[in-house]
Amino acid sequence: MALELDRFMAGLVRRNPGEREFHQAVREVAEKVIPFINQHPEYEKALIFERMTEPDRVVIFRVSWEDDEGNFRVNRGYRVQYNNAIGPYKGGLRFDKSVNLSILKFLGFEQVFKNSLTTLPMGGAKGGADFNPKGKSDAEVMRFCHSFMTELYRHIGADVDVPAGDIGVGTREVSYMFGQYKRLSNKFTGTFTGKGLAFGGSQIRKEATGYGAVYFAREMLATCGETVEGKSAVISGSGNVATYAAQKLMEMGAKVVALSDRRGFIHEPDGLTNERLAYIIEMKENHHGTLEDYAREFGSTFCPGKRPWILPCDMAFPCATQNELDKEDAQTLINNGCKLVSEGANMPTAYAASTMFEEAHMLFAPGKAANAGGVSISGLEMSQNSMRMSWSREEVDRQLQEIMRRIHEQCVEYGTVNGRVNYVKGANIAGFKKVADAMLAFGIV
Ligand code: NDP
Repeated sequence: MALELDRFMAGLVRRNPGEREFHQAVREVAEKVIPFINQHPEYEKALIFERMTEPDRVVIFRVSWEDDEGNFRVNRGYRVQYNNAIGPYKGGLRFDKSVNLSILKFLGFEQVFKNSLTTLPMGGAKGGADFNPKGKSDAEVMRFCHSFMTELYRHIGADVDVPAGDIGVGTREVSYMFGQYKRLSNKFTGTFTGKGLAFGGSQIRKEATGYGAVYFAREMLATCGETVEGKSAVISGSGNVATYAAQKLMEMGAKVVALSDRRGFIHEPDGLTNERLAYIIEMKENHHGTLEDYAREFGSTFCPGKRPWILPCDMAFPCATQNELDKEDAQTLINNGCKLVSEGANMPTAYAASTMFEEAHMLFAPGKAANAGGVSISGLEMSQNSMRMSWSREEVDRQLQEIMRRIHEQCVEYGTVNGRVNYVKGANIAGFKKVADAMLAFGIV
């Protein structure tokens, strides 16, 4: 019997009650992939999509630690090992108080498709904890990370599962976790990516997601004979992805007029300067400052409690978190003549908003394609670790550009409808096909 979207989703919702973000991520993929499956009965017969929506395993564990005042503290840690059909599990760890199973299942599921698109041999996973490192001392973060790894180390390994950073997990946290992993396993292997350059990290890793989202935007614009140069850009977030997207856009001659954080956004009508961006990167990476502090320092405009999508722009880069751009925001962007949306974050565009972008025929790149640069360089970090080599910045950047070009090419191949590229369709089908073919080959596993 042909797969049918609503019936499939009803079953998924019944089996995963209350997991709103997970339902949303699956629906977005199912809508594009089910018609493709219905043209390929071999996938349908082998229940490939049913199996792909069920994680291989989920590990949930207690993380006990002690704060600086000597109080006992407890958080919940997770690792969702989603699918390893095409390579070892690979995906970041998120430390944020909002972390729950639904969010990690959605992120792990997305990661399977994203990693497949990179053309590198990586399966999909995601993990993290409901722990907020902001405002904690280095010693507290270290104790938390060591305790977290004391359980997680049993479930990971260079050929098993290779975690990396995400929201709330930067070089400091990765270093504490890798140090503890190395101590417990007595092995120096590439079991983590995003490591410091002194101990196996790759050039360009921290810039890769933001740079990649801009390289992808460049490819999309090229299909219409346009370039990034001279265009205005609004970016949400001011963390790892957002700031390096800003840096690359400015380098290519675009004008970045906004960045945001949890408290609001800054408006820079004449465009951010390199000096101001460097200040924001240093402030966010090392001092956990806010854009309000920055605006005070530089006399810029800060709009508290608002999202930046109200500003007119040619290009929008949502680079903060899931569901940060709703249908009202989408309508405002469309009305203001925005032509391109490249998702630096994972699922930042709410379901209804992404449908509006598709219907308006915008150049709209879903995160699984546009933000795959980060995990791609993680894949290259794994290769460098296996070979005991480190490549130059230029070499890694060259490979990043080539990977983003190939991802774009796959979107064009599978997403072109009546002469227009639907990037959501292209990314979902191309990502699905490689994993599905591997699963078919394995038989019933
Ligand atoms: P960071 O923690 O470095 O930065 C996140 C930024 O988003 C911060 O500026 C933060 O504000 C803001 N933010 C977080 N939550 C909210 C919220 N609920 N409302 C408004 N603003 C918020 O994370 P990354 O830059 O690494 O990750 C950003 C997104 O990109 C995530 O969706 C992540 O999954 C995705 N991604 C990241 C990759 C990577 O390589 N890092 C790879 C692929 C995807 P504040 O500064 O106030 O904390």
